[in-house]
Amino acid sequence: MDWLELKARLLETGTARLTGAGGGPYISASTAGPGAGSGGSVFFSTGSGRVRLTLDPESPVEIEHRGGGRAVLRYDGMTLGGVLEPVALHCPRQAYITVTSGCIYRCRYCEVPAVAAGRKTPDQIEEMVAAVAARIDAISITSGVLASVEEEEEYVIAIVRRLLRFGIPIGVSIFPGEATAERLHDLGIAEVKFNVETATRDLFAVMCPGLDWDMVWRALRRSVDLFGRGHVFSNLIIGIGEQDREVEECIRALCSTGVVPVIRPLNPAGELRSYARPTAGRLLRIYGITSRLLREAALDPRDSLTMCPACTGCDLVPGRDGPL
Ligand code: SF4
Repeated sequence: MDWLELKARLLETGTARLTGAGGGPYISASTAGPGAGSGGSVFFSTGSGRVRLTLDPESPVEIEHRGGGRAVLRYDGMTLGGVLEPVALHCPRQAYITVTSGCIYRCRYCEVPAVAAGRKTPDQIEEMVAAVAARIDAISITSGVLASVEEEEEYVIAIVRRLLRFGIPIGVSIFPGEATAERLHDLGIAEVKFNVETATRDLFAVMCPGLDWDMVWRALRRSVDLFGRGHVFSNLIIGIGEQDREVEECIRALCSTGVVPVIRPLNPAGELRSYARPTAGRLLRIYGITSRLLREAALDPRDSLTMCPACTGCDLVPGRDGPL
């Protein structure tokens, strides 16, 4: 079994139990992304790629930590040597920071609204980045919405201004308004991620009540003009009721716009806790579709500098986990 197939199977499972030496610097406890609010997760890596797995003592996947980050993964009769990567902030090699935890919106798949509302101050965030600056390649900023989309943008922009002094590529992922792309570009950040989340407008209306799908698409199109093809990303969640042909249409629309899709397997949480994670077979099928459409659009996720396409922990990423 090659890495791509193994990672698909690990993403289908989504969890691992950690045995052996303690987790310490190898455990990420996050307030954003899959596993938000859980007991933490680890990043297991080989020369072929990286996968993030949520810690669960009942998991069928075992990662035995042998100390110093050396680790062995066992699953379904298979054994694979690798390493646990130390986490900088949220993920390896990045300061990926959630500015506002908690959210006024109620996207049905999301755990963030259930996380107690809180907001880091600009001083706190600057200190957090300073503490890891020597061992990161990127700063990535995301946020829930504390009061309004507009107020959140102001707050995030003030923080990003403070972070420019580090001279490290910055990526930002927030819910966009009409001028968000311009404002972030004017600051000098490297990349943006605005999430379409669902394959269709109808599904978005059901899953993300109160948010505007068209606004996301306008922001994506404008962002490609400003940041360049391949430096604009968008999460598309798999496993919330969409058909493969709808997924393909959405990926085609993103790629032809110059946006790199981040194909995110559903982590059943929030109101969708009873949903099943997508199967490895489906993830591999959609990987094939994504690779083909990226190639046709001359997009390569390996060009990314920040956020999820640079991390790759939660997704199958063409070019990084297997052939583009
Ligand atoms: S792929 Fe994105 S959400 Fe997942 S661990 Fe990496 S940075 Fe976080």
